[in-house]
Amino acid sequence: MVPVVQLCARDVPELPFPAGMDVLQVVWCPLIHNDEAGTVLPKVYWRSEQTVAGGRVLSDPPVPYEYDEEFVPRSCTVTPTRVVEYPNGDLPEGLAQSLSQRFDEIAEAFGFSYYETAVTVQSKVGGYPGWLQQPNWPVCGCGRRMDHLLSITATEPVEWRWFPLDEQGPESSDPSMWTGADDVVVDTIGHGMDMGDLGGLYLFVCPGCPDMPYAHRYDC
Ligand SMILES: [Zn+2]
Ligand SMILES: [Zn+2]
Repeated sequence: MVPVVQLCARDVPELPFPAGMDVLQVVWCPLIHNDEAGTVLPKVYWRSEQTVAGGRVLSDPPVPYEYDEEFVPRSCTVTPTRVVEYPNGDLPEGLAQSLSQRFDEIAEAFGFSYYETAVTVQSKVGGYPGWLQQPNWPVCGCGRRMDHLLSITATEPVEWRWFPLDEQGPESSDPSMWTGADDVVVDTIGHGMDMGDLGGLYLFVCPGCPDMPYAHRYDC
């Protein structure tokens, strides 16, 4: 297993934690599995910060001897930005039809399509999965459609709509929609994974069940 992400409740208060837990850790087996999702096999751990902080830190962490290198992240930190998303693939069909003229007007006025910009395609917690294929929400054993917990995606923002302004090239005078990243940061920010043709792994949980079962999907 390789470590993928660790988030604390104090940094992401909107995360649904099981009672008594305040750290979320995601690891995965970095081999492509022959299951329905056809990707790495993630495992979610809910822990308490007190236990994690009181534990021993390995000076020489084990590395996998067999792995798909597109799914092994390099060490990095997260610098979250809070944004509001609107559904793209999850927009109800009737609503999409009645709004289509307005979407055309937006594209005409601003030069980008609603569907390209309604959701982020970068790694994120909450919001809507940035579906590239048709939405495919898992359903919990209790019958409830699971909630989107987080996405780990290959796409780090180096240009376009969801690109962080503080990573913009220093001499760029382009509007933020069109500007590119500072070359210095392009090769250094983020986890550095290609994840198989710039795909993404989406994790879902059922907060209605006490043990918070989870499921995953792969999209590219
Ligand atoms: Zn495995
Ligand atoms: Zn459930």
